[in-house]
Amino acid sequence: MTIDRESETPDTLGGVGELAALKRIFPRLPSAAAELIGPGDDSAVLATPDKRVVITTDMMIHGPDFRMAWSSPYDLGWKAAATNLSDVAAMGAVPTGLVVAIAAPNDTPVSSLEAIADGLREGCESLAPGSGVIGGDLSVSTVLTIVITAFGDLEGRAPVLRSGARVGDVIAVSGTLGLAAEGLRLLFTEGVVDGEPDAAAAATLATQHPDAIAAQLRPAPPIADGKAAALGGATSMLDLSDGLAIDARRIATASGVGLDLSSEAVGGRVQLDGGEDHSLLATFPEGATLPAGFRAIGRVVEGEGLLVDGVAYTERGGWDPYAGWDGAAG
Ligand SMILES: [Mg+2]
Repeated sequence: MTIDRESETPDTLGGVGELAALKRIFPRLPSAAAELIGPGDDSAVLATPDKRVVITTDMMIHGPDFRMAWSSPYDLGWKAAATNLSDVAAMGAVPTGLVVAIAAPNDTPVSSLEAIADGLREGCESLAPGSGVIGGDLSVSTVLTIVITAFGDLEGRAPVLRSGARVGDVIAVSGTLGLAAEGLRLLFTEGVVDGEPDAAAAATLATQHPDAIAAQLRPAPPIADGKAAALGGATSMLDLSDGLAIDARRIATASGVGLDLSSEAVGGRVQLDGGEDHSLLATFPEGATLPAGFRAIGRVVEGEGLLVDGVAYTERGGWDPYAGWDGAAG
């Protein structure tokens, strides 16, 4: 009697094994223009003509950071790329290479890993053309985890830090404010059934509120505007991960100044408090022409912390949907 081993081997990470899975993922990954030696050797080699390298890392864990019921594997690859590319851009650098480490449950379909790779590729190609995956690792875990370390090139420019804002500077933002948080609020209120994340409910939401849901699940931060801001003389910059109010205070604290936002220019509480937009918040010298994509939303003043229309804004802000959420659920 012969056994057709092929048909009995499930097409999962555990079924085919790490090497076979990697073999199928590699061709789908984006290649990096600055890559000298790519995946396949013990380490990658990346060109750094600037002689400095910008490095950042960001981790996404199922539970606290995403829900499989809401995010497709493609979305996860895209978002993991986007959040890391955004941190590189926030230094005024151009993203070059990404190193991707994934730990996934044994029963993860290889097709899901391929879809993560597709999201990585199209995210890099769309948001930061020329950037790509130069290496990584694949392992097994009970909790799907995606860790990316991203590298960037300053191209001879000084890095734009959080500490350079000066009194009189114009505060400007490129990208959306509050849209990603609106998407998350919708998912937590209408994308659940019996309190649990639900794929069908999320799919319905995505057709009703495509912009907000996309901003949360598949964000498109203005990566190229980081370099544009640096060229435009930005004195400080960061990307908005925890919300405008919280992140503006970070610039105020690092720079030893106050940031006074215009409520009319910002919008409302959602725009002020909502996180995960990965928009770029920067300050520019008074009278400077703002780079395309940036709009003025306030002024740097003497003092400290965040002000709105000249009045101290001390509320923490930021709706924290994960507070109290059972990380083991879903
Ligand atoms: Mg950041």
